[in-house]
Amino acid sequence: MIVLKFGGTSVQDSAAMDRALDITFERLERSPVLISSAMAKITDSLIAAADAAVAGDGEAVASLLDAVKERHIKCAYEFLKGQNLNYAVTRINEIMTELRSILRGCVYLKECTPQSCDAVVSCGELLSTVLLHARARERKIDAVWLDSRELIKTDSTYGEAAVDFKATETAIRKAVTPAAGKLFIAQGFIGSDANSLTTTLGRGGSDYTAAVFGSILNAEEIQIWTDVNGIMTTDPRLVPEAKTVNEISYEEAAELAFFGAKVVHPATIQPAVAKKIPVTVLNTRDPEGIFTRISEKTAYEGLKAISGKKNVTLLTVVSSRMMNAVGFLANLFEIFREHNTSVDLVSTSEVSVSMTINKTDKLAEITADLEKLGSVSVEADKAIVCLVGKGIWKDSRNVTKAFAALEGTNIRMISLGASDTNLSALVPNGKLNEAIISLHKAFFG
Ligand code: ASP
Ligand code: MG
Repeated sequence: MIVLKFGGTSVQDSAAMDRALDITFERLERSPVLISSAMAKITDSLIAAADAAVAGDGEAVASLLDAVKERHIKCAYEFLKGQNLNYAVTRINEIMTELRSILRGCVYLKECTPQSCDAVVSCGELLSTVLLHARARERKIDAVWLDSRELIKTDSTYGEAAVDFKATETAIRKAVTPAAGKLFIAQGFIGSDANSLTTTLGRGGSDYTAAVFGSILNAEEIQIWTDVNGIMTTDPRLVPEAKTVNEISYEEAAELAFFGAKVVHPATIQPAVAKKIPVTVLNTRDPEGIFTRISEKTAYEGLKAISGKKNVTLLTVVSSRMMNAVGFLANLFEIFREHNTSVDLVSTSEVSVSMTINKTDKLAEITADLEKLGSVSVEADKAIVCLVGKGIWKDSRNVTKAFAALEGTNIRMISLGASDTNLSALVPNGKLNEAIISLHKAFFG
């Protein structure tokens, strides 16, 4: 079986929904389960409505909800008729009525607890999947609408709930029996806790839902359908020649995402990673086009992509006490732990340690504590340029090539990842784009 997940822009209107269904119907023989996000921007509108309720602004709530309803009703009238239209309009009205009463309560109380907020935002996915289901039937497909609130069982951390895999597995196995020619449709992002109260998995949580379904149903593949042709060799807004990366490992994708590339982060598809299920990232508007396959191991070694992260701060501690001192580094990193700040790159010499941080709200406290260990210097406005590709640095010609491309750029620090997957260089903020363009040219032409 396969899981297909469609993001907000891939179901943003009736035309997009039809494209998503075209893609799904072509894969009907592979026993598909379709997971959908809310229509684009709907989750944001629902959060805005919850905020307006907290402000006691009943009028703003009403106009936001009217717009949400209008968008779904319009879509229903565009592609449904007769019985299917009736069914969809009835369901949309039911969901909207419930939504209005929850928010009316919130307006009265001028509060929207995380629990209420989850009940509110879950409506986006309920609405989009009602339309997809009705349209699939209109197009004569044997489609079943599933309620993810009954299947994805979670703890009660509203807004960011953790999945209870055992309970979820039992529920999914009982309700979902993928079969060739049959389509199951379920909501991404939403679930419910042990008391059957609605929960959500965190913003962007639909990918995670897809991974949960895929891992429990032993999917041969999880397809994430978006509006780009997969993961690119670098940001195409910066380098128009950027190409799609055909294959990338979970580990490489994690490095890339960490350094700022907008890709599917393995953490967001962890259940699939754990079962080594390949995840493909494809473009709804170019379904036959190139795409990226993320899996345990790629068939070739080489540079996969280049990404960058701006506004990094470099801290350097120089101390002669460091020489031969046991526990010096442990004490030093303990300071970062105390101030809840994570360190990205580290480089040490016999008497100095340099490290970068991204979050600087505790910079003054960290610096004061570090000064107890040695003299400290702080350099702001740096950026990390990161080259990702497992095994490439075994070939010293690649290293030479990278440095040649960076000639003329003031490099403050280098870190060759211990896992041999990334090489990162610290450059001035203002030089990051130039560095990426030049490296991309050197490696990808
Ligand atoms: N609709 C939710 C959001 O916008 C979940 C998702 O799109 O994955 O965050
Ligand atoms: Mg989304």
